Amino acid sequence: SAKLLNSEDHTEQIWRSRVRSLCSVGWDKRQQLVSSTMCTHQFKSICFQATRRALSYWSHRTGSLAKPESISSVCAVRLMSIDSGGGDSGHPPERIPRAGKYRSAWTILKEEMEGIGTMKPPGTVVPRETDVLIVGGGVIGSAVAYWIKERSPKGSNVVVVERDPVYTRASTMLSAGGIRHQFSIPENVQLSLFATEFFTNIKEHLSVIHESPPDIGFNHQGYLFLAPPRDAELMIENVKMQNELGAKIAFLTKSQLAQKYPWLNLDGVECGSLGLEGEGWIDPWSLLRALKQKNISLGTKYIHGELFDFEFLTQQDHGAGDRNLRLDSGVIRTKDGREHEIRFSVVVNCAGPWAADVAEMAKIGLGDEELVYPLPVEPRKRFVYVTHCPDGPMLDFPFLVDPSGFYVRREGYGGNYIVGKSPACEEDEPDIGNFEVDYDMYDEQIWPDLAKRIPAFNNSKMKSAWAGYYEYNTFDQNLVTGPHPYHRQMMFACGLSGHGLQHSIGVGRGVSEMILDTDYQTIDLTRFHFDRFINSTAIEEQKIV
Ligand SMILES: Cc1cc2nc3c(=O)[nH]c(=O)nc-3n(C[C@H](O)[C@H](O)[C@H](O)COP(=O)(O)OP(=O)(O)OC[C@H]3O[C@@H](n4cnc5c(N)ncnc54)[C@H](O)[C@@H]3O)c2cc1C
Repeated sequence: SAKLLNSEDHTEQIWRSRVRSLCSVGWDKRQQLVSSTMCTHQFKSICFQATRRALSYWSHRTGSLAKPESISSVCAVRLMSIDSGGGDSGHPPERIPRAGKYRSAWTILKEEMEGIGTMKPPGTVVPRETDVLIVGGGVIGSAVAYWIKERSPKGSNVVVVERDPVYTRASTMLSAGGIRHQFSIPENVQLSLFATEFFTNIKEHLSVIHESPPDIGFNHQGYLFLAPPRDAELMIENVKMQNELGAKIAFLTKSQLAQKYPWLNLDGVECGSLGLEGEGWIDPWSLLRALKQKNISLGTKYIHGELFDFEFLTQQDHGAGDRNLRLDSGVIRTKDGREHEIRFSVVVNCAGPWAADVAEMAKIGLGDEELVYPLPVEPRKRFVYVTHCPDGPMLDFPFLVDPSGFYVRREGYGGNYIVGKSPACEEDEPDIGNFEVDYDMYDEQIWPDLAKRIPAFNNSKMKSAWAGYYEYNTFDQNLVTGPHPYHRQMMFACGLSGHGLQHSIGVGRGVSEMILDTDYQTIDLTRFHFDRFINSTAIEEQKIV
């Protein structure tokens, strides 16, 4: 039916609109429809006729043998069978095998109609094959899906598997939402510039027909980095490079800073760099929601389940070649306890802080040759504190990054600010076993510096706080992307260590280029490939916040 919906053949229009209307009603509405007798008949009849029509279309297209006589019984039986679930039954979970190499039109159709026929809630019907499987439906996985479908709407099937559709622990939801052009690596500056352009024109990119245009609350307020004397030269170089790439960054001397920000105490500060255009912050949840909504409208399937294993083809299975193991399919456990194998051409690892677990499922870090090297990404806990400061500088308050390591920005207009700081060294890294907040860190390591830098914060009170995981790349705190050198079918989009929200859009586009064009067409991200862990070539970003 999905193929039928995309058909350009106008004689199919009536069937397309019937299937579409059936598919477009929500789960509750669909149940309601089927629970009234008259509608059950209507529903069955639409299913039956759409299926028969689609089947003959497919038989015609593929020349495969179809079995139209059995359709009505399949539809009827499926309409009555409500999924009873299997998670708590004590039996071993049912495993739905991946697609075989050759499938008849009948099999394809049966699978495509499954969601309608069995009345399963959305997100639990797992296709048995897809072109691209994305693991992790946070902002990065969703950005990858967006670009693939945007650039190749009918050419590629995309499935996103996400184990937590409310994103309780996802980095995306716990992010501070900042976007800045002030990085020390040119590619990072380019990714941010692209993000600004995309976020500014978000309505053009992510609007969906019949839905309100997305609003991600883009607050345009520049970042202000302060530098001590020892870092002044580096700051001048960085500002030059950033401006050459198209950013608008002003270098400010100490006296210029004093004039512009009289509320700042500039002890120990030599100079500063201020973003004049395109920097600020957005609402991460609104961005994720807009991306998901757009993706679903473009045909991406979001599956509520957890990828917990991969199946491999051995050399014997997949013929000649210099590789013994070839990734073939992922194994997903859905909420109802069932296990599903889904075959893919490419799998993209967008599992955020848990990306190394997914890599290990593919034996990355556990094997020989290139498989010896693990993916150096792990969760690192970071705290964000919300502070009320009635006498704070308010409106013309940049996203300030202090040489002592803390950052502070305005949150709304009611005298609230959000503040955070990364630990100074490995030994200070907080325990990642829970999401508890270390309130002492604010009192002992942040507030004294904050109140010294901005004396108005002497009269302030921390009101609340939260903890979230950076998807921390322990090798060089930067993006990991491109294909794995051994498993060419596994792409990465992870490891962004605290700047992934703003770079999601550019990284997603880069991954789509690697998949659809086999090379980068816009920003060249080759330096961020996995090979650098093997060659020991770190790309150190000096401006990690
Ligand atoms: C406190 C904090 C502040 C931040 N501030 C900023 C900022 O100011 N600016 C900025 O640009 N970035 C910031 N970041 C970083 C940014 O939030 C992340 O880089 C970005 O959200 C990463 O997105 P993601 O999609 O990779 O990860 P996530 O949002 O964590 O998504 C990964 C998803 O994968 C799913 N998953 C994992 N394993 C599996 C599996 N096996 N099967 C199925 N699903 C799986 C998880 O459930 C999760 O939803 C901040 C992060 C934190 C924690």
